[in-house]
Amino acid sequence: MQRLASSRRLLQAALAPVRAHSSLSAAAATVAPAPENGFAAAPKMPPFDYTPPPYEGPLAEEILRKRAEFLSPSLFHFYDRPLNIVDGKMQYLFDEDGRRYLDAFGGIATVSCGHCHPDIVEAIVNQAKRIQHSTVLYLNNAISDFAEALASKMPGDLKVVFFTNSGTEANELALMIARLYTGCHDIISVRNGYHGNAAGTMGATAQSNWKFNVVQTGVHHASNPDPYRGAFGSDGEKYARDVEEIIDFGTTGRVGGFISEAIQGVGGIVELAPGYLPAVYNTVRKAGGLCIADEVQVGVARTGSHFWGFEAHGVIPDIVTMAKGIGNGIPIGAVVTTPEIAQVLTRRSYFNTFGGNPVSTAGGHAVLKVLEKEKLQENAFVVGSYLKERLDMLKEKHEIIGDVRGRGFLLGVELVTDRQKKTPARAEIAQVMNHMKDMGVLVGKGGFYGNVFRVTPPLCFSKEDSDFLIDVMDIALSKL
Ligand code: PMP
Repeated sequence: MQRLASSRRLLQAALAPVRAHSSLSAAAATVAPAPENGFAAAPKMPPFDYTPPPYEGPLAEEILRKRAEFLSPSLFHFYDRPLNIVDGKMQYLFDEDGRRYLDAFGGIATVSCGHCHPDIVEAIVNQAKRIQHSTVLYLNNAISDFAEALASKMPGDLKVVFFTNSGTEANELALMIARLYTGCHDIISVRNGYHGNAAGTMGATAQSNWKFNVVQTGVHHASNPDPYRGAFGSDGEKYARDVEEIIDFGTTGRVGGFISEAIQGVGGIVELAPGYLPAVYNTVRKAGGLCIADEVQVGVARTGSHFWGFEAHGVIPDIVTMAKGIGNGIPIGAVVTTPEIAQVLTRRSYFNTFGGNPVSTAGGHAVLKVLEKEKLQENAFVVGSYLKERLDMLKEKHEIIGDVRGRGFLLGVELVTDRQKKTPARAEIAQVMNHMKDMGVLVGKGGFYGNVFRVTPPLCFSKEDSDFLIDVMDIALSKL
């Protein structure tokens, strides 16, 4: 402990000159630091009655060094000086110095109920104390109770659940089920979509930055019904014709299925043009295919208006995949389909060692209960709509904001240096993001050009948090 404390002091001393030269500190010279956070020139963060325990662990520099030496060189991080996040509570995160940050990214739209939500922690701990792992070769109530609860959230005949450990695994399984059920290999996905990074899902993912040059067969990528950048604006039916053409000219006339998000998350919070999904589902079903809704990012109450993103489009998929938000941070994914379609997996043995793990499913079940008990979908609708309105007002003020979009707590703010040409403002967004972090607000970033803020906080985010985020974003944009 003593050794840690002294090396911590040494590292802090070593960091001090760097801190003094940061752009934040330059701004700080003119304004009294906000007492609570020590952030310079920052509007005041809403009060929050929680102090994390003192942190005695290694500091950012040491972790960075170990990452560089022992972890994959493909790892990347946000911010010029990456944050060492050591504690989390509800919509707030704390760094190694005990500084509090408003988390408007939620671990990439994953923390739905709030960091370390007590009910969820309790469910996880209680289950871990009884039995952590047994596999589905034995009975346990955690998996069946959660499956029943999830099925009750589904429309139509969608009531058979397969548990996985991630979104990628869920989509891999969904694609395989569609191919087995239809006997067709061809899948159609939407350009700019993200569905995972294993062999099948990398094929369905349709952004070059996420695709390696390895075999990815049988996926056709349809025109993106993107109201902001797409060729047909918001006319969903026009884009849907591209799917008809792919089937007519690129396949045997029969397909295995169609997969899409209702709002593209990694792609930069792009809401599919209205009318697109009903028209495409119709076309795909005529060609014998199944329709898969990838709800990994959009689902589980995040959009506020509906529990699932596809519901806003008036369609019922044949297969729904989910992950992220159903676990509030626990590694869990799921595929939900109809009893008839589910039968295809009985043709061979299908097994997943951790899928349906008692701890993950006990945690997932607690998530559903908390969402209901704390009316978090309603909060996402009310506060998310308010936040979007305020972002729209920022757009009036700052020419660099080209578009504000999304719904609930799945919001995107696209920065462009020229509103007519829609030129991506890549350097500017990095600068604004860094500055916002220095003032205590963490937002995400995405989109094909990396120029879209992703605002996807835990669903307990408050109106006061929204006002704070807006004030901070406003200041950071004004400094450009
Ligand atoms: N689908 C969507 C829509 C996603 O956003 C993601 C992850 N960003 C995935 C699938 C893959 O999920 P995972 O990272 O858990 O494998």
